[in-house]
Amino acid sequence: MTIAIVGAGMGGLALARVLHVNGIEAVVYERDAARGARRQGGMLDIHSGQRALREAGLLERFLAIARREGQDMRLLEPDGTLLLQEDTPEDAPMARPEIDRTDLRTLLLDSLPEGTVRWGHAFDHAEDGVVHFANGSSARYDLLVGADGANSRVRSLLTDARPAHLGQNAVELAIPDIDRTHPDLAAMVGRGNYWVFGDGKSLAAQRNGDGCVRIGVSFYNTGEDWFTTNGIRFDDPPAVRARLIELLAGWHPRITALIAAASDDTVAPRPLATLPVGLTWPSNPTVTLVGDAAHLMPPVGEGANMALLDGAVLGAALAAHRGDFGAAVAEYEKEMFERTGKAARMSADMQELLMSPDASRRLLEFFQPS
Ligand SMILES: Cc1cc2nc3c(=O)[nH]c(=O)nc-3n(C[C@H](O)[C@H](O)[C@H](O)COP(=O)(O)OP(=O)(O)OC[C@H]3O[C@@H](n4cnc5c(N)ncnc54)[C@H](O)[C@@H]3O)c2cc1C
Repeated sequence: MTIAIVGAGMGGLALARVLHVNGIEAVVYERDAARGARRQGGMLDIHSGQRALREAGLLERFLAIARREGQDMRLLEPDGTLLLQEDTPEDAPMARPEIDRTDLRTLLLDSLPEGTVRWGHAFDHAEDGVVHFANGSSARYDLLVGADGANSRVRSLLTDARPAHLGQNAVELAIPDIDRTHPDLAAMVGRGNYWVFGDGKSLAAQRNGDGCVRIGVSFYNTGEDWFTTNGIRFDDPPAVRARLIELLAGWHPRITALIAAASDDTVAPRPLATLPVGLTWPSNPTVTLVGDAAHLMPPVGEGANMALLDGAVLGAALAAHRGDFGAAVAEYEKEMFERTGKAARMSADMQELLMSPDASRRLLEFFQPS
């Protein structure tokens, strides 16, 4: 009985690892040509997902490389007023430590037997128990698991639902080696998160384990054509930075200095989309989904945690119902729909708060309820 997992992200790798721990081998087919083929992005805040890492026998190793101090937080208004500063004590619990996405992916990849991941295999389509890849190869499967992220192609085997634009467009930038290149900005951002919210915009900067600070500048209640209508052309990074600073007119120059300091090769667009909250589909014993493919949510800190848990829960169900994929998939989906439905509702509420005109004050109340 062959289990084919499409996508070597958080969900697909957690599933492969929990299956391996339970003596079940699976193959992971990944589109990227190699492990380091693509930058993996910034930090992940891992809380409920720690349960999945325990199931995978990786919690201790995770805690050894996760960044406790990444939980630090500074919340400001656009004029530079500091509303909240929380510094994490040395002995604080590792409730929501941050980890570099690359480090977590490496931890999961290194925990799998050699050859589990087949790189350079982009899913194209599947029919009659055979999965076909863009490189012309194919493979037989008894269970196909779509772990292929936000723009999943496997998803269409189960549902017609598609991600819809969230009304938020972000530009990502980064300042590499910030301690050496911009020590003043490094001190301003601190060891964790630095958030500024105001008038339908935000700037979120975050210290990463590799010495860079990643920055996301978001524009709320904006449409899919926002980049075009604002004349933001990503083939000219200095012009993108200048335009962003213009769009943040009135913001304190200390804050916009973060944009000016970002390096050219890090400037990238990120339009955000989500799947409908509470999406379900009729269970199918030969195909299921984990992670963003199943429940793409606003990026407020739940997605990777849910993807890890999906992988662990599906892996445990497949181990408990050996050879009965129908029973395992049905058990997994029942738990997953309920758990991720709640997380998606919570994320949508948080997103509504972030998109509101008085987001910084509402966030302050959220963190410090009176
Ligand atoms: C800016 C930002 C910040 C975030 N911060 C957090 C956070 O702090 N905490 C948190 O919990 N979540 C966070 N998230 C959400 C989190 O990143 C995702 O929910 C999580 O990565 C989903 O894991 P996944 O395994 O489903 O998909 P992914 O991690 O996206 O992995 C999908 C994999 O499938 C591969 N793939 C895609 N298509 C194909 C194909 N056709 N064939 C083969 N392979 C394919 C991809 O190359 C990739 O390796 C954030 C998201 C964003 C955008």
